[in-house]
Amino acid sequence: MQFMEDTFQHKGLRRKLVEEIRKKGIRDEKVLDAINKVPRHLFMDSGFIKFAYRDQAFPIRAGQTISQPYTVAIQTELLQVEAGHKVLEVGTGSGYQAAVLAELGARVFSIERQKELYLSAQILLNELHYRVQFFYGDGYQGLPTYGPFDRILITAAAPVIPEKLLEQLKPGGRLVLPVGGSDAQVMTLLEKSEHGDFKKTQHGSFVFVPMLGGKQ
Ligand code: SAM
Repeated sequence: MQFMEDTFQHKGLRRKLVEEIRKKGIRDEKVLDAINKVPRHLFMDSGFIKFAYRDQAFPIRAGQTISQPYTVAIQTELLQVEAGHKVLEVGTGSGYQAAVLAELGARVFSIERQKELYLSAQILLNELHYRVQFFYGDGYQGLPTYGPFDRILITAAAPVIPEKLLEQLKPGGRLVLPVGGSDAQVMTLLEKSEHGDFKKTQHGSFVFVPMLGGKQ
């Protein structure tokens, strides 16, 4: 099927994108390698495929976006994922970030509140042979029966840090999320100590679609 092709041209464009992201400050070779492997064009709507290897966010279905590759890279770098980690992603969207996490060897659990996106990401990642567990639900609740998690990543703008996700993080775990209102958010890393307290650091300003409660 032509749609699922990953041509030499796509691979070449992807290598250039990786070099662009490297110049913007991403240093983790494992993260750059994962971005180099995931065929981003297959996660985009047909009208945008030719822009897939620009370092930009683009619209997907249900009024949502596939994040900018640099943003995916910095969130993934901050997470410090190791092979075998249980990683919870809130905001499946296109499934692109979940595929990047799976390339790093994580056991990925991804929640989406929009049924249409939950279904389409699941079909695509199965076709691409990425093993990710998808959930249709409200990320504010996390996944209490599957936790605790080594890493948690939120890919939508959180007005507040969701309490239940802090609880579902293992001691020694890391939570990465953009915190703030609709105009701009601060990329925030929370590191949970072995005693259960948190160290918070901030990593620049970003713009995400909002994290909303409930499901649709
Ligand atoms: N990670 C995605 C990707 O790789 O394409 C991009 C995610 S997009 C910027 C944010 C996503 O978060 C949207 O698909 C949106 O529907 C979802 N979302 C917003 N609030 C949510 C919630 N409470 N629970 C789960 N998903 C949520």
